Amino acid sequence: MDETFILGIDLGTTNSLAAWLTQDGPEVIRDAGGGALVPSVVAFSPDGSVTVGAPARAHAVENPLATVYSVKRLMGRGIGDIRGDMTFLPYAVEPADDGTIRVNVQGRRFSPQELSAIILRDVKSRAEAALDRSITQAVITVPAYFDDAQRQATRDAGRIAGLDVKRIVNEPTAAALAYGLDRKEDARIAVYDFGGGTFDVSILSVAGGVFQVLSTNGDTQLGGDDLDRELIDLITSEIREEFGQELSFPPATRQALRAFAEAAKIRLSEFDSATVEVALGKGRTFRRTITRREFEQRAGRWVEHTIEHCRRALADAALQPGDVDEVVMVGGSTRIPLVQKRVGELFGRTPYTAINPDEVVALGAAVQAVILAGTHRDTLLLDVTPLSLGIETLGGAMGKLIMRNTTIPCQAAEDFTTYVDGQTSVDIHVLQGERELAKDCRSLGKFQLRDIPPMPASMPRIHVTFLLDANGILNVSAREQRSGQEASVQITAARGLSKEQVDTMVNESYVHAVEDMTAHRLIDLRNESARILGAIEKALHRAGDVMSDAQRRLLDSAVNTLREKMDGCDDPDELYAAMAAANDAADPLTRAQLDEVIRKTAKGKKLDDF
Ligand code: ADP
Ligand code: MG
Repeated sequence: MDETFILGIDLGTTNSLAAWLTQDGPEVIRDAGGGALVPSVVAFSPDGSVTVGAPARAHAVENPLATVYSVKRLMGRGIGDIRGDMTFLPYAVEPADDGTIRVNVQGRRFSPQELSAIILRDVKSRAEAALDRSITQAVITVPAYFDDAQRQATRDAGRIAGLDVKRIVNEPTAAALAYGLDRKEDARIAVYDFGGGTFDVSILSVAGGVFQVLSTNGDTQLGGDDLDRELIDLITSEIREEFGQELSFPPATRQALRAFAEAAKIRLSEFDSATVEVALGKGRTFRRTITRREFEQRAGRWVEHTIEHCRRALADAALQPGDVDEVVMVGGSTRIPLVQKRVGELFGRTPYTAINPDEVVALGAAVQAVILAGTHRDTLLLDVTPLSLGIETLGGAMGKLIMRNTTIPCQAAEDFTTYVDGQTSVDIHVLQGERELAKDCRSLGKFQLRDIPPMPASMPRIHVTFLLDANGILNVSAREQRSGQEASVQITAARGLSKEQVDTMVNESYVHAVEDMTAHRLIDLRNESARILGAIEKALHRAGDVMSDAQRRLLDSAVNTLREKMDGCDDPDELYAAMAAANDAADPLTRAQLDEVIRKTAKGKKLDDF
């Protein structure tokens, strides 16, 4: 057995998950379906069997007294501490003799530690199955505001689950570790964590690889659930308006409403609207499209509460927003664009979202595990970009914006356009590597610039900016200059990139240099040929009659040859010759068009004006 293996675990109020360090950097443990999050829910059935995670959550409404969730709120607390929570929890909570808490499930009494241990055991056995090894050691994360009793309870839960807890780590510290911010010389970091049921913000300082918590603030009763409730309220009040005030909602409908509301909220993080459809029985259906603006109006006050907590955390740390060097986003609710916008406005900088916000804490726990195990952390130190960065251009070529070995921080921008008339969206595919074709480079991420107003091909001006900051985080944004439409993505450019991979990529670019150049040139020539063929077609349509029969025959034959070569020929010189021939054959057309332009411009002007 490997004595040094330590699993990193994020034991969350809503979701839990684990991560470990692979050769390519930290990675979360996923099940066969690709899912990593295990809902922190435990359900007990009458026959005594216990289920954990998604199946347990699915039964929460049918079986409210025997489904335990949010147990993290009870860890290490006394009955007096949780009066506020008790009104929300549907299951029975009672005091134990020593003043701690017991959860009473159909007469069986469990400590919060025992319940958390059931979740931890599930996370552990998933990891064991995925990695095919037995696991005995872990690092577990807790909120920075957890006191000694809460931390001790978390350790105990680990022990009950058969895990030797090597370290309890603060969640914000883990998030900062996942971004490699322990390498900063002397910096202040704000970690904004907006989860399912809780919100907290921590201000950290880091120096010499050591983190210190300067302040924390937050609200343990504010989370994504509140935003779901806003949508549920909106939907139920409209349902009553439409179908009668006396309409009641049985548990199954309530459960469905909750699921619909959450799904709509999640969709609105990406799209401008989301449609909810609720079957109400007796052939009645309620249907409603909710816009992002409507959602933001309702979510806005909750978001403002979180901003207020950030202000207090800053005040407690005796800092101004501008004193904060980096802002890290944690928790599923930080995917909401309004949240990113407001946090960015407060701190005056783009917050870090490059790492999946519901995985970042577990990934950081895995980094901490490796630091503890003393194994080498083979991540690249970034003074320069180890590989070039760019985007996929038409035809599958790699268009480099930042060249390999550029000193960071750095930035670059380039203008692109559309190739099809009326095109309203553009896919931006961010690449890393030295090869000339997109397929031979590493794909870092994709995003779509949508809602470009329809314009003729090559009219839109799409300004793409690459900004690589000192921590190796890459911000790519695209803005259509005429309409102002914008979209962006943030990526950890160096994550999962080892020294060997960089060397291999660079070597291959030398080995394949000639064929790559040829391939790139072919793509450029094909694009140019397509443009020329399109222009010829348009010109023929407008001014075809200026050509003599002989000229027309020559042009048709040149066009046909070019069409054939575009598809069938792999020799750039041949393609170039065909392209030039078509261009020459179209000369009478081009000249006729030029004459027309001059005539139009000249009209109404006196000879002296020239
Ligand atoms: P916790 O730390 O409390 O265990 P998570 O960080 O997993 O919770 O966050 C869960 C919350 O994130 C839920 O309320 C969920 O609806 C919300 N969430 C997840 N993805 C999105 C998204 N794309 N847009 C908005 N909210 C999201
Ligand atoms: Mg969390």
